[in-house]
Amino acid sequence: MTETERQAALEGIAGEVAACTGCRLHAGRTRAVPGEGSASSEVVFVGEGPGEQEDRQGRPFVGASGQLLGDLIGSLGWGRPDVFITNVVKCRPPGNRDPEPDEIAACAPYLRRQLEALDPSVVVTVGKHSLNAFRPGERIGRVHGTTTPADPATGAGNALVFSMYHPAFALYQGSNRKTLFEDMTGLPGALVAARARRGPGDATRVAPAASVPTDALAGAPVTLPAAVAPVTPLASAGVIDRVPSPAPQAPEPGDQLTLF
Ligand code: SF4
Repeated sequence: MTETERQAALEGIAGEVAACTGCRLHAGRTRAVPGEGSASSEVVFVGEGPGEQEDRQGRPFVGASGQLLGDLIGSLGWGRPDVFITNVVKCRPPGNRDPEPDEIAACAPYLRRQLEALDPSVVVTVGKHSLNAFRPGERIGRVHGTTTPADPATGAGNALVFSMYHPAFALYQGSNRKTLFEDMTGLPGALVAARARRGPGDATRVAPAASVPTDALAGAPVTLPAAVAPVTPLASAGVIDRVPSPAPQAPEPGDQLTLF
């Protein structure tokens, strides 16, 4: 699928979401929140559902949690426009309650179709309901910061699933902020590993400006996991083949990791 085709598919899904009456959540929404970001990104963040600000603006993660999610993404030297951000349910549950299982089931085809269009390398689950959609039966306290291959039934058959706490985890208790940022440092390694699993790259994707991962807490370069870095040449790992590269080189700890 070309980037233009991906974009068209995502816009088509967004149009359907805006008019959807597939579950009771449609009755209370101001605006549906289908998701936003780069149609050519390798990384998709999947949260739980829109909150009050998201419902007003029709955009995902624009409240306090969204600010922190942006900081977490920024800690890797990436920006929100470099990734795609969406939710398990596209309409706000009243009073910010948890989405009900039947609401999640009703909305699931939209997420699956978005992932089929995006074909990401990494799906980042943000919070427990997103975790349950991709790693059923797991507990976030046990698997945060870890990866597992995605079930093809999710629509992200070529992806690794990387799980993190919801940013609200740190908003309610500031001491959890360190855990979130520490977990996020594992995302570049997950992307490298995911590229290695995919094989040859997709020439239809384009590279934004190179970025240098940094640790927002320490201001230090993000260190690629030792278990991944020596065995995964970036330029031969798949998607990096989409940009000219003089010679394949294995990443060293602290290397640049460009997000496509
Ligand atoms: S939450 Fe999903 S299924 Fe329910 S009305 Fe909104 S778009 Fe439709």
